[in-house]
Amino acid sequence: MKKDDCIFCRIANGEIPSNTVYEDEYFRAILDLSPAAKGHTLILPKDHFDDLFDADEAVLERLLKTAQKIGAGMKKYLNCDGINVVQNNGAAAGQTVRHLHVHLIPRYEGDGQMVTWKQNASDPEEQKKIAAGIADAV
Ligand code: AMP
Ligand code: ZN
Repeated sequence: MKKDDCIFCRIANGEIPSNTVYEDEYFRAILDLSPAAKGHTLILPKDHFDDLFDADEAVLERLLKTAQKIGAGMKKYLNCDGINVVQNNGAAAGQTVRHLHVHLIPRYEGDGQMVTWKQNASDPEEQKKIAAGIADAV
């Protein structure tokens, strides 16, 4: 299903022009308007899902395969040294557009770009509790 007031629905379905690098029945992949690096690509499902947790299985099954295919093309054309596959869910996690999308960010040795987080020490007892809590919830 599409959402009329969603810009990524409109881009994915070709109602708004974009720099498209790939398209099939399920997805359109476009260049990010404010790229972290040249060739920064977004994979947009043509159906609207708010985020990963809202998405249907058929789309999710294809999403990573599609990322692999497009990423391989990016590596070939851009000759980058690596690619970050990033996917944000929720404003707290940095999601600014509420339509499921995957970032493919080309990386180069010493490019100074950052996809990172601050790491903390962990307490073994607390880790056990958290692991058991999540395991129960899954
Ligand atoms: P996120 O912060 O994970 O929700 O990523 C949203 C991304 O969409 C950002 O990197 C924006 O630069 C990009 N973006 C927003 N509007 C457009 C647009 N009209 N065309 C292409 N990229 C866009
Ligand atoms: Zn949408």
